[in-house]
Amino acid sequence: MKVLILENGRLFQKILRDLLIELDCTVSCVRTGEEGLELIANTGDETRYDLIIASQHIFDNSGSAFIEYCKNSELQTPVILLTSEPNETLLKNARSAGIKDIFPKTNITYLKSSIRYYIQGEQKFDIQGGRVLYVEDSASVAHIVTKYLKKLNLEITHFATAEEAFHAFTDNEYDLLITDVMLEGTMDGLSLVRMIRASNTHSAKIPILAMTGHDEAQMRIDLLHAGINDYVTKPPIEEELAARVNNLIINKRLADQVREQQRALFNIAMTDQLTTCHNRHSLSDYAPKYIKDALRYNYPLSVMILDLDRFKNVNDAFGHTTGDIVLSEVGKILMSSCRQGDIVSRIGGEEFLVLLPHCTIYDAMHKGENIRSMIELAKPSGLRVTASIGVASLIKQHGEDFDKLYKAADSAVYNSKKNGRNQVSADLQSIEDSELQHASGG
Ligand code: GH3
Ligand code: MG
Ligand code: MG
Ligand code: MG
Repeated sequence: MKVLILENGRLFQKILRDLLIELDCTVSCVRTGEEGLELIANTGDETRYDLIIASQHIFDNSGSAFIEYCKNSELQTPVILLTSEPNETLLKNARSAGIKDIFPKTNITYLKSSIRYYIQGEQKFDIQGGRVLYVEDSASVAHIVTKYLKKLNLEITHFATAEEAFHAFTDNEYDLLITDVMLEGTMDGLSLVRMIRASNTHSAKIPILAMTGHDEAQMRIDLLHAGINDYVTKPPIEEELAARVNNLIINKRLADQVREQQRALFNIAMTDQLTTCHNRHSLSDYAPKYIKDALRYNYPLSVMILDLDRFKNVNDAFGHTTGDIVLSEVGKILMSSCRQGDIVSRIGGEEFLVLLPHCTIYDAMHKGENIRSMIELAKPSGLRVTASIGVASLIKQHGEDFDKLYKAADSAVYNSKKNGRNQVSADLQSIEDSELQHASGG
């Protein structure tokens, strides 16, 4: 934020300058209204001031000219006046000169916190762009509103009908919908709002600002029931429209941030930090859903459990850090050799489980063998590492009980260990069930 200070006292100049710099503002200081005018006159549009803080003395001599200039020019830069002795005449003059706020100079602490509050409020207000979907069938209103919105650095997509707008809404991302209520075509603003709120997308929660030509209570109520967030009457007052648009976009940004943080936290909670595979929590979340879907849509679901062989020896001989690297490499091998929809999770120290939807027991055995040989060949950290693997498929006897399927795969791992490690074993019942189904043509 660029701030111009008009103050002739050195001490006050310093206090203000320090405070503003602390608030990340760029500061220029002048002592008289004349100097202020000169500075503004030489300032290009893109470097114009966002705020002017002026001391009371600008009301005398050259200062009045300065105030006059600020008031009449196109600048529209807000001016805050600092006063040491507020009196009625001064306040009246200040108001009529369009001064935005008046802060007393007598209490420095209060002055500083007032300025801080003002600046932080303004900074918060700076939405820094955004995309607006705008529906309005009157060309003249659309022209004015578009002009106002462009001043807020917003990108505007304008349509005259709700049908076109709804089309654009389904294909694009917007930060705000502004809609007129009475519209040409077969759909009015109210129907548009209802359709958007009923649409089954994350954009269904887009903030909506309605613009009503006739300010009828019943229409406002209907619009609010349909789910608008706010409304303005036509013709809109520029500052009011700007304030409402800002509020809606800022709230959307905050809601987006919260959703993003929730998503990030959820991912952290569901991810094994060492290998970036899913963790146990995530598995216990996914497994019942995978079983339900496999039963409902009648497709095969297999499970592969993998336990590294003599892994304790790796840690003992090469240290825990090397052990961790090995685990992380094994995780990568598993994740890279699985399809989208497969869930790779680390369920214990050196144990992994993979959920394999649409995968028969034979496919799972084949996949297990591929993975086994990939691990053996990978030589993570230059070490020969092998794994014992067990696979099982969901069969009738398991019902919807993931634990039964898990135990079937786990006892297959036990067989692999018992028979000499570095091999793949399948659950016998899963194979028998598959053969039975095959024989019966299922
Ligand atoms: P087996 O072939 O019978 O599976 O032998 P094993 O040594 O792999 O089995 P055991 O269950 O006796 O030991 C597992 C070892 O895995 C113990 C522990 O040192 C190691 N381990 C478990 N979690 C981690 C971990 O997060 N990092 C590292 N580096 N090692 C781990
Ligand atoms: Mg209209
Ligand atoms: Mg183990
Ligand atoms: Mg082991």
